[in-house]
Amino acid sequence: MDETLLALVAKYDRPGPRYTSYPTAPEWRDDFGPADYAGALAAAAAAEQAPLALYVHIPFCEERCTFCGCNVVVTRKRETADAYLDRLEREIDLVAAALGRRRLVTQLHWGGGTPNYLDEPRLRRLMAMLRARFALDPAAEIALEIDPVVASPQQVRLLRELGFNRISLGVQDLDWTVLQAVNRRQPEALTRLIYTACREAGFAGVNLDLIYGLPHQRPENFGETVRKIIDLQPDRVALFSYAHVPWLKKHQQALDAATLPDAATKFRIFHGARARFLAAGYVQIGMDHFARPGDELAAALRERRVHRNFMGYTVLPADDLVAFGITAISAVAGRFAQNEPRLARYYRALDAGELPTVKGYELDADDRLRAHVISTLMCNFDLRFAEVEARFGIDFRATFAAELAELAAARDDGLIELADGTLRATDTGRLFIRNICMPFDAHLRRRRAAGDADAAPRFSRTV
Ligand code: SF4
Repeated sequence: MDETLLALVAKYDRPGPRYTSYPTAPEWRDDFGPADYAGALAAAAAAEQAPLALYVHIPFCEERCTFCGCNVVVTRKRETADAYLDRLEREIDLVAAALGRRRLVTQLHWGGGTPNYLDEPRLRRLMAMLRARFALDPAAEIALEIDPVVASPQQVRLLRELGFNRISLGVQDLDWTVLQAVNRRQPEALTRLIYTACREAGFAGVNLDLIYGLPHQRPENFGETVRKIIDLQPDRVALFSYAHVPWLKKHQQALDAATLPDAATKFRIFHGARARFLAAGYVQIGMDHFARPGDELAAALRERRVHRNFMGYTVLPADDLVAFGITAISAVAGRFAQNEPRLARYYRALDAGELPTVKGYELDADDRLRAHVISTLMCNFDLRFAEVEARFGIDFRATFAAELAELAAARDDGLIELADGTLRATDTGRLFIRNICMPFDAHLRRRRAAGDADAAPRFSRTV
């Protein structure tokens, strides 16, 4: 990797949002509550035929991986999940009632935690409760995340029988030293066994999740992991950056910081892995995903049809995403609504017959415009001014004069090209796409102008 690129990393690697939403979560308001979310659902109910996306959060894990940023409930007692499923059912009932006749679902995603922590009767129960209240489109994308450590080939076959057609396996790395350092007892043979079972069960799409920036990772050993992963030929790979934020996630303090790769090494790891995937024919989707050329995401990128929501990248845009379970985030009728993260309080709200919403945000016209700009850049790496102008009735260059001026440095550094009414991230610029989006973030700009020293450290580093 050349010195110019390393100099760019040194210049652009700073705290910044990942833009899974705009405005980002720190902007959301604590005074947004159940009544506000109920209002959003009532507004969404009017579009009876419009498709919905559903997300269900299952927070349980048998053990905690020390890198994990998720809000998980660690227990080996499977029956603990029954009380949770009881409350999920109440929440689904409340939301389905508020949605009236709007029931068509084109995307269903179970995430966690570990969705396959649930055993057979509990998996069947959860799927049945969803199917009883919603109409799953025959072509719906029905996906879940699984932890191979608690999976079995038999369970994988059951998941297909329940209707899942996409599956995502948490792998992180295949190197045993790395896995041990993060408390993940997942031998390579087990990952291969479960991956093969997914293929044999006929899943339409198999995704593998990897993480770079973990203890003991170096370009050489992670490169070997990537070589083996490419041999397996997954349809998609997510290559996430480990965000070391021990001041936010206390359990990350258990990681020995001295074994973490420094910023330059971490970047080399990512860059080397990316080069291997591209050389093997994979197409980069957004910041950190790769898809085989025949995968529908790769085709969608060519046609600028990639979308992104809290569940990841998709080709099936649904106007409203309705989420269930602790910490779950819904995006409905121009509002974000987040559920209570603490189990006991989540239970208490639902036992009282209330939606468990604890914070949220209602987007105004400026937020919607900027959300579209940022999401288009994050998904498709380019932005056509005329398309934004037609959609929002604005003059792009006049509206974003300050933002374009701020991006002059990125253009000089070769990260973007501005020509023919299009802002395009270059190949190098794709590595810094979060930095390219940040000038369009009016909330971040406002915080910085107000001297909010805390504006940046809320986020992980951009590279
Ligand atoms: S990485 Fe997955 S299995 Fe590990 S603690 Fe987080 S959610 Fe649980």
